[in-house]
Amino acid sequence: MVTMKKVSGAALATILACVPLAACSDGSAKNTTAGSEQGKGQASQSAASGSKVSDKLLELSIHFHDGDNKVFKDDFPVFKKAQEMTNVKLHGTAPPSATNSREVFNMMLASGKLPDIVGGLKLDMNKAALDGALEPLDDLIEKHAPNIKKFLQTNKWAKAGSVASDGKLYFIPYIMEGEASEGWYIRQDWLDKLGMKAPKTVDEYYQTLKAFREKDPNGNGKKDEVPYFGRNNKEAITQLVPLFGVRPEWHVINGKVQYGKYLPEYKDAMVNISKWYKEDLIDKEIYTRGAKAREVLLGDNVGGATHDWFPSSATYNDTLKDKIQGFKFVVMAPVADKNGKVWQEYSRMLLRDKGWGIASTSKNKVEVIKYFDFWFTPEGRRLMNFGIEGVQYDMKDGKPIFKPEVLNGKEPVNKQLWDIGAQLDIGYQMDLSYETQWTNPIANTGIKMYIDNKYFAPQFPSVSFTPKEEKTISEKWPAIDTYIREMQQKWVMGAEAVEPNYDKYLKRLKEMGMDDIVKIYQDAYERYQKNA
Ligand code: CA
Repeated sequence: MVTMKKVSGAALATILACVPLAACSDGSAKNTTAGSEQGKGQASQSAASGSKVSDKLLELSIHFHDGDNKVFKDDFPVFKKAQEMTNVKLHGTAPPSATNSREVFNMMLASGKLPDIVGGLKLDMNKAALDGALEPLDDLIEKHAPNIKKFLQTNKWAKAGSVASDGKLYFIPYIMEGEASEGWYIRQDWLDKLGMKAPKTVDEYYQTLKAFREKDPNGNGKKDEVPYFGRNNKEAITQLVPLFGVRPEWHVINGKVQYGKYLPEYKDAMVNISKWYKEDLIDKEIYTRGAKAREVLLGDNVGGATHDWFPSSATYNDTLKDKIQGFKFVVMAPVADKNGKVWQEYSRMLLRDKGWGIASTSKNKVEVIKYFDFWFTPEGRRLMNFGIEGVQYDMKDGKPIFKPEVLNGKEPVNKQLWDIGAQLDIGYQMDLSYETQWTNPIANTGIKMYIDNKYFAPQFPSVSFTPKEEKTISEKWPAIDTYIREMQQKWVMGAEAVEPNYDKYLKRLKEMGMDDIVKIYQDAYERYQKNA
């Protein structure tokens, strides 16, 4: 969990398939993201009586290597608990010392000796599956996994977004709950000081940032305010693009797939954003400041507004309250874009591009799918989300509530849970109330506002590419992406004027094969639609 996975992730297709930031983890370990709704009523706290997978203790092997700190350990307490309930003991085969999960995955495949259970990224899993390494799961689910079957029937998008390009399902995905991830934050105490209300339109937002710059809201007599800032070097400017009525990434309009930064409308966004930058409304170092932007600019009492993750941004209200008198950093609704529409581009992708599947060589396929199914029972889901009853949480009014020592522990809650084998990105569904319990109230209020008002624009679905399509993408996209980023930076920083050069930009992208990429996305989207 370094900074935004979206841009730092190695997998090209992960980058492509991932709406910026939406599918990505928060930068800080303590604050992934959170939601507002309390957990649904949970089943009784007693262990599932019918969850035994095997009469005798059955040992299955598993490859699970998900980054540096999430490698399967045989002594994970959560999996020992699961063993009591299912009679299945897992033995991890991935080397814990390795750091590159995709490399380890490929080495495991190349060894020819596959474990019963294989965990990995959608891209790698489906590629391995098409090569015959993984078992198709549809029949096994139909016959032996009633809980998974029910889940996939009521959440068709989860299957549609996970199947390989042959239309078959080869892995059970990790699914999140709660769309809210990022939103717009502003210094309420500065607004109050200047006698202004939270802006409601893009023009008012401009005026607000202008006032932050001109009217010395931090009261030190210096023109040192940085009205708008962001900590994601590669995406911070793009996050402003929706203000001008453009969806910057892959999206669908009336069945037609398009890419925002290849549209005529993107020009107007660039013209305006470069004007904002020139007028010092945007951090001069927005392309380079990086992960510490909030700490530095809020901590120095010069930062005024940003677009960032709900939970982690709210924590500055606690950490800075003694340092900056009256400091109040709150969530505001998205302002109406230049067309008068209020919407939020960035949200959390509920379907993650990873999960676990069954090796085609496994002798225990039925037992494995039954074991997978256990994690979709209320008891299994609770175990993976909250850990062990009486240790990490207690049941109160039918709901799992973390113990105070967990909520106030030295380590962040999610880190504590990873350490015992909970919240691993295996095939299961995250429970939103796991996050809500340790999220700052200011963030929870903002999250609730965004969810209740249905601000989120529909995300581009998790499509699958054929090997041929993937080859074309990997040949053409990196250069296209680099060019798009270079031109954006040139325009914003004033190295080149937008207006006279925009047509040249579109023409260059066409020459680089952008239309081929759009066509590939269109085809992949149409395949997806057949399953959705
Ligand atoms: Ca000042």
